[in-house]
Amino acid sequence: MIKIIESIWNKKGKYRIIHVLALIMMVLIVVYMTNGTTKSYSHFIYLPIILAAYYWGSTKALIVAAIAGILLGLIPLDVAQGISQDTMNWIIRAIILAIIGYVTGALFERVHKLSIDLKDKELISEITGLYNSKKLFHDLTSILEGDETFTIISIKLANIEGIGKYVSYDLVQKLIGELIEDIKLRLKNISLYSSSDDELMMIIPEDYDYVKGLKSLVNKYSMAVKVDGFQVRLSLKAGVYNYMGGLETPITIYNKARIASEQGETPESGVYYYDIKIDNSRKERYEIAGSIHNALMNKEFYLLYQPKINIVDNTISGVEVLLRWDRGKRKPIGPNVFIDVAEKIGFIKEISKYVIENAIRQISIWENENVVVNFAINITSQELIDQELIEWVTDIMDYNKIDRSKFELEITERVIGKDSERINKRLEYLRQIGYKISIDDFGTGYNSLIMLGTVPYDILKIDKYFIDRISKFEDRVMIKNLIEHLHALKKKVVAEGVETEEQLKYLKEYGCDEIQGYYFSKPLTSEEFVQFYKKFYKDRS
Ligand code: C2E
Ligand code: MG
Ligand code: MG
Repeated sequence: MIKIIESIWNKKGKYRIIHVLALIMMVLIVVYMTNGTTKSYSHFIYLPIILAAYYWGSTKALIVAAIAGILLGLIPLDVAQGISQDTMNWIIRAIILAIIGYVTGALFERVHKLSIDLKDKELISEITGLYNSKKLFHDLTSILEGDETFTIISIKLANIEGIGKYVSYDLVQKLIGELIEDIKLRLKNISLYSSSDDELMMIIPEDYDYVKGLKSLVNKYSMAVKVDGFQVRLSLKAGVYNYMGGLETPITIYNKARIASEQGETPESGVYYYDIKIDNSRKERYEIAGSIHNALMNKEFYLLYQPKINIVDNTISGVEVLLRWDRGKRKPIGPNVFIDVAEKIGFIKEISKYVIENAIRQISIWENENVVVNFAINITSQELIDQELIEWVTDIMDYNKIDRSKFELEITERVIGKDSERINKRLEYLRQIGYKISIDDFGTGYNSLIMLGTVPYDILKIDKYFIDRISKFEDRVMIKNLIEHLHALKKKVVAEGVETEEQLKYLKEYGCDEIQGYYFSKPLTSEEFVQFYKKFYKDRS
């Protein structure tokens, strides 16, 4: 009995006990005031019993009903005439009331369980059988109400989509099943959720040491594991956020773990911790994403032209067109960053059209002023395979009567490795219709030298990274051999980022064709370039 009272004697429970007792007392008073139990008012006693059944279920309702029955028996049958109740009737009524209490309580229990089952179903992921994001947020809300500190971890299954697409979705299912079992084995004291198809989330209590278990899990799957006879490598990126208290909502806490997991190259396994700096750089990218469209409308973008010098015949062979963003008083941002954002949010085509249109217009103007140069434009992999864009470029080139062989398309080496067959076909096509293909930033990707003989291109630009190391003997030898190799393949070689006399000296000695870099000139405005051009040829003659 004491235990039962204890189990209901909490904050909410206290009020419930008061409700039920008050109701019993009221019924007893009404029955007494209406002259005893002969009147039908005594049936009001069902009300506190039903309420108890609703509050506490079968057993406790039985006890409440029995007590109510006994108390009701203490009231005379007829108060005015002082006739008390028949004892047998009293006992039987108490028993009937107890049965009613018990049955009603059992019915409420059943309904309650059904509604919990239904709710639970809503909270469970059909695919993994784990609780879903709805439950995660529900739990986060209750933990935050309780003022506890904890750790939340997002585990991104970074290459799961690829495995599904290229191997099978059944395998994905089994792999995730195995991973979940593994997590449960290694990290016992945690709550695990499956928040989306490619993400698991964990909530870890403050004092639980998860680090070793988490790292061993990530390492295990970054090696090949065998599932269903297949060797697969599952790339797990764990983002960890330690919530140390303070005003935060479940969604910001959840997002911080996700932001943490976005660090590192995709799909590279690892455990990454949330840091305010990554949030700031995200905010910057967010700001860029929001203002790129307006920047295009408001003509905040403009072009600079960096000369390329042919050191064999000492001429200006061309310019590389480089985009700039005039952000007024806002923090300046270089093309490396905003081009990347534009590509991600789908604005790159508009930007490229802007660059190409303005560059072609500039080239025509210069030609009229007898400033004749080739020009190179940087394009991303998305644009390379965009037929509509290429046709659009060709139309304006033809309209402006510009020779296609004057137009170089610079593609970074990193693009070449991806989807190589498709890219190669595309490059071959562009060469066939008359454009020049230039491989940019050579040496920054992971391609082998074999690629130099198989990919269709005309010009190769050695990245500044190597040029900066030319004073070192080993790197010098490599550059020398690379230039010889490229010349044997009948390719033109450009050195990027040349800044010093010494670099120029070696490159001349090794037969490098063209130089681009601050040694000759920084990127220039169109007017500055015309001055540079005139001065260059004047000094030469
Ligand atoms: P990139 O195509 O490799 O361009 C060369 C970059 O090196 C330019 O940086 C240029 O200013 C810089 N540079 C040239 N010579 C020197 C030097 O001697 N020393 C140093 N320290 N730097 C030198 P920028 O203009 O900041 O462009 C960065 C990258 O942004 C470009 O690398 C290119 O990949 C991309 N980019 C620029 N404009 C465009 C564009 O219109 N479209 C696309 N898709 N990408 C662009
Ligand atoms: Mg370039
Ligand atoms: Mg480059």
